[in-house]
Amino acid sequence: MKCTAIIALILCLPSLAQSYDMTRRDRMNILYSNQVVFDRRGEPLVSVRLTESQEEIKFKTRGGAVLMPSGDSSSQVRSPARTEWTVRLESSQAGQTRWWLATERFPAHKMSTIAARRLHWSDQGYEVKLFEAGALIGLAGQTLDTRTITIGIAPQKTRLAALRMAYDIADQLSLKDQVVAEPVTRPSGWLVAREKRSGIEIRSKDLIWLTPNDGQTTKIIDLEWGHGTPKRGRMDRTYAGDLYFTVGQDGLLAAANVLSAEQLLEGVVPSELYTSAPMEALKAQSVTARGQLLTKVGTRHRSDPYLLCAETHCQVYSGTTKKHPRTSRAVQDTRGQLLFHGDDLVDTTYSSTCGGHSEAFHKMWGGTPLPYSMGQLDNQTADPTPLTEENLAQFLEQPPPSFCGKRKGLFRWRVKRTGREVTEAVNRIAAIGDVHTIAAVERGHSGRALRVKYTGTRGSHVVDGSYNNRKLLGGLRSGMWLVKRRGGTPDSAPKTWTFRGGGFGHGVGMCQHGAMDMAQRSNTFDAILKHYYPGSTLKRAW
Ligand SMILES: [Zn+2]
Ligand SMILES: [Zn+2]
Repeated sequence: MKCTAIIALILCLPSLAQSYDMTRRDRMNILYSNQVVFDRRGEPLVSVRLTESQEEIKFKTRGGAVLMPSGDSSSQVRSPARTEWTVRLESSQAGQTRWWLATERFPAHKMSTIAARRLHWSDQGYEVKLFEAGALIGLAGQTLDTRTITIGIAPQKTRLAALRMAYDIADQLSLKDQVVAEPVTRPSGWLVAREKRSGIEIRSKDLIWLTPNDGQTTKIIDLEWGHGTPKRGRMDRTYAGDLYFTVGQDGLLAAANVLSAEQLLEGVVPSELYTSAPMEALKAQSVTARGQLLTKVGTRHRSDPYLLCAETHCQVYSGTTKKHPRTSRAVQDTRGQLLFHGDDLVDTTYSSTCGGHSEAFHKMWGGTPLPYSMGQLDNQTADPTPLTEENLAQFLEQPPPSFCGKRKGLFRWRVKRTGREVTEAVNRIAAIGDVHTIAAVERGHSGRALRVKYTGTRGSHVVDGSYNNRKLLGGLRSGMWLVKRRGGTPDSAPKTWTFRGGGFGHGVGMCQHGAMDMAQRSNTFDAILKHYYPGSTLKRAW
């Protein structure tokens, strides 16, 4: 690194105490490894993308910080309190990625199954690669293994090509619509950070690392969140922990936050459940959010210089801005606790309101059936009998008592779409003329429509996936619905379609409104978790 000038404001120092005692290699690992790095307390460290695809990023070191060009602690620049920096890219190159079609995912200890499946695919003439994610967490006398192996086949140049391939051999796949990114070349470029008052500049290839002084925070000014998604905006946001600036896969500027899993959860849980929810529900939410963090780490963003994003794709995180004492307490009271089923980490998915019957994980997203996530009634009976096309109408009209039953507009709902709205939406993806019939050709264990056939005056078209159909039909609250037509002749588009439905969200795993109701009925957080993930046990990992 070059420290172009030394003035009183900013000093080049040989060495300073750093948080987490990280070496440059640890820091580079955090950027590109898909495995978890641990801090000295044995807590996983995670990197979360705050923003990317930027021309410049401005930040303020509120209580002072140390900047490490190239992430190398032997060359440090001290930035006093309240100095403002602008980071830009001087020249950069995008990275290259290959996309593999993901066929199956297994816990890493199922080695003979993985070997057999690998052979199965290569015998069929496919190029095969195994992708590992997760971690081995060593505890006194015990090892918790959260690692998974995803089998990837037939690498393609683009994500779309891999997805097309998935469509062609869909009936042979256990995962639905999933691809794995393999970075072939990393993005690269020169970062230039300039301090506003002094004009001092730091130039560094690929990475500038920032460690705030003890307990201090860093403010990113006018940060763009949700880049590339329909829901996005700009605002100042404050972050605790280390930050780094680097080149994103697209060759543009990105910023990420490095912090411990527990610190991240304190920032995440307030966005996932009302901070006023009963304490036992907040604790159950903390454990499920921790489980999601650990199951997702390394399985997404494989070619990006960070592990997770701060949007709904991973988990919504807005720094210290949203932190609340009640949710922080729930996180701290359940510190390190994770749910296991046998030796496997439970994939603790959750959604707002199940509608009285949760959905089976494998029905919604594919993969092998998970014994703790088969779908069940959301009441004391936890009856796992699947709903069918025949009894769904009665279930919607006269639901059994349900923990989430009090959430009127979410538990049961009714919406209308005009015949024209549906015809237009479907014809945008397939020219089938006026849509006169909508029929679910496959439903999950909770009656959620997983595949829907649209028939029009000029043909028919099947749309796969509960979420894709909800989106196509103008944003239905859940996939648990029945539809009736009104007006028009049977072979023409009706005047209106009426959808009667139940629940809000995918409905797999914990029902958040149900969990709040259970807590109000004096259930503890572990009883709530055992109801939503039957057969699982809590273990403390750190
Ligand atoms: Zn993400
Ligand atoms: Zn429910």
